[in-house]
Amino acid sequence: MSRIASVLLPMPLPEAFDYAEPDGLELVVGDQVAAPLGPRLLRGVVVGLREGAGGNRPLKAIEGKLDSPPLPPGAIEFVQWAARYSVDAPGQPLAIAIRGARAPKAKPERIVEPTGVLPARATPARAKVLEAAAAGAMSPADLARAAGVSAGVVKGLLDEGALAVRLVEPDGAFEPPDLARAGRELNASQSAAADALRAMVGEGCFNVALLDGVTGSGKTEVYLEAVAAALARDPQAQVLVMLPEIALTQAVIARFMERFGVKPAEWHSDVAPPMRRRVWDAVATGQARIVVGARSALFLPFQKLSLIVVDEEHDGSYKQDEGFIYQARDLSVVRGKIENAAVVLASATPSLETLRNAETGRYRWLRLAARHGTARLPDITLVDLKETPPEAGRWLSPPLTAAMAQTLEAGEQTLLFLNRRGYAPLVLCKACGERMTSPDTDSWLVEHRYSGRLVCHLTGFSMPKPERCPHCGAKESLASIGPGVERVEEEARMLFPEARVAVFSSDTVWDAKEARRLVDAMAEGEIDILVATQAAAKGHNFPRLTLVGVVDADLGLRGGDLRAAERTYQLLAQATGRAGRRDRPGRALLQTYAPEHAVMQALKAQDRDAFVAAEMAEREIMKLPPFGRLGAIVVSGPDPQALEAFAREMAKVAPNAEGVEVYGPADAPLSLVRGRRRKRFLIRADRNVDLSAYLATWRARIRPPGAIRVAIDVDPYSFL
Ligand SMILES: [Zn+2]
Repeated sequence: MSRIASVLLPMPLPEAFDYAEPDGLELVVGDQVAAPLGPRLLRGVVVGLREGAGGNRPLKAIEGKLDSPPLPPGAIEFVQWAARYSVDAPGQPLAIAIRGARAPKAKPERIVEPTGVLPARATPARAKVLEAAAAGAMSPADLARAAGVSAGVVKGLLDEGALAVRLVEPDGAFEPPDLARAGRELNASQSAAADALRAMVGEGCFNVALLDGVTGSGKTEVYLEAVAAALARDPQAQVLVMLPEIALTQAVIARFMERFGVKPAEWHSDVAPPMRRRVWDAVATGQARIVVGARSALFLPFQKLSLIVVDEEHDGSYKQDEGFIYQARDLSVVRGKIENAAVVLASATPSLETLRNAETGRYRWLRLAARHGTARLPDITLVDLKETPPEAGRWLSPPLTAAMAQTLEAGEQTLLFLNRRGYAPLVLCKACGERMTSPDTDSWLVEHRYSGRLVCHLTGFSMPKPERCPHCGAKESLASIGPGVERVEEEARMLFPEARVAVFSSDTVWDAKEARRLVDAMAEGEIDILVATQAAAKGHNFPRLTLVGVVDADLGLRGGDLRAAERTYQLLAQATGRAGRRDRPGRALLQTYAPEHAVMQALKAQDRDAFVAAEMAEREIMKLPPFGRLGAIVVSGPDPQALEAFAREMAKVAPNAEGVEVYGPADAPLSLVRGRRRKRFLIRADRNVDLSAYLATWRARIRPPGAIRVAIDVDPYSFL
């Protein structure tokens, strides 16, 4: 009896395809296979097997099994769940799940080792090489460099048989963690939380805990104890720790190495493809027991996932907004449930969704009381820009510059925080008023002085800054409006010419190594004033940092989406929390035009609970998340009339359902992106409504004509 294999392909197809299983292949569910689709052969995953021959038409046969470990059942179930939830094709999350398996394998590296054979002729240079080779195996080139000799000397020793070449897998294996090591000493509050987490992990089933503690309260030490407990409990157990930022990953990896004596497997966009392949295989075979990674690590093929930690769980970067749209923090809870694993969500400023689950008892709530050690929270002052404005054309107010001068005098450090890249967010012509905008997207071009270009931050379009206004042709008429980090840096250099000033933004810090270099320089006191976007606002310990100046505290409040106040509070609490972490008291100055705003008052009083209570009350009245659910549908197309007509048709077929309100279609705030017009529906639903099913039903009722695309975002974070 032959069998039919149901194969999911990593493509936007609505379902898995059936193929015939060739004789002798003996497939199992999870196997990765080469399957024909039209003229092509694609990598797919077997998600089902059944007896049969496949009806009237003969099925195409699977070409063969691929040299990769199978996808475990939990990973397959997770992919299918995620697709249903996000109202997308299961091939989309599958593509994320098998990305590592598709990466090329690393080539083995050549290393040389002494053989014990002595060279016929001994020279001082040869002696140096043999000494260096005895100290550790390395490549021929590295050996010559280590011994300070030419490559010819190493080659001579190889020719004579005193050294031999061996081929090794790069980077070695993923060593098992050393569980005999002790963690750092914990204070009473940390100990209590660590005990609670150990107990939860010990239950060996699905549970969620919120680890809630102010910046500097030592959450990492606490969750490291949960990791240790999970690994010790079961020799096969695997742990996933998710982090929002690459910059932060390096600091956390150092902590894992200190605690467990080995480097955890890393998974993020900076990991080279051959290493991704190794990590994927090692996770699938259970060899990698600790994985530290960004959001897509959640789709890795864990054999026995026992604990998931989501650090900085409130961070917006857990939401993937393009391609397959998902919120990794929310999905981590789903994966935890599927795997019967414990989930720890850690934050100093938890999301309202998570706080709501903690308040209602769905999640355990562990609060860390104080800052670790003797550090105190910084004093926070609101600088009212209406009363003490900066000089014309400047951005730092007199109270802030006075505080910077004192800090510099005391030999301490300042962080100037402005969540805006580049030099100026807008360039306009003084002669005709023309604003420089992106050619196919309705967004302003941002001036970057380092590169001398005007850049669209949405699409990446850039052009040299023109000498003449492209609209009226006036010469030297283009003015830079408003500040970005580069402009604040310029002002800081001008005010304090003797100070060492640096900028930390995604334009100046392009990879993990550069981030590390800058963070180290700051920690070592080699920088006096650091001007930074949110890339530097989290996670780092700068012992000499005592002043944080927030250049534009109101920035996040404009734009006005659902989470504007929440996000502003989180970001500024994180940024101001940087100041004064050891024995030095810190202070933070927030420049604002709205000192009376609830967010500013809560920050000043350092009263998170008051802010949360006010924000929750407002959301509850509006029945918005976490008290209701939101979905968005964005329809886009190149032709405005065709799009308008389709959006009207789409509105007509919206399903009627109790507890659901549909708003729109309206022009999206960004109504033109990459030459495509956009219209938007917003859907609000009560919590008990299956919003995914509602959206799927709606979309199935109408087929968009050729050039029009329909994108669904369940629980949108971006309202553009
Ligand atoms: Zn002009």
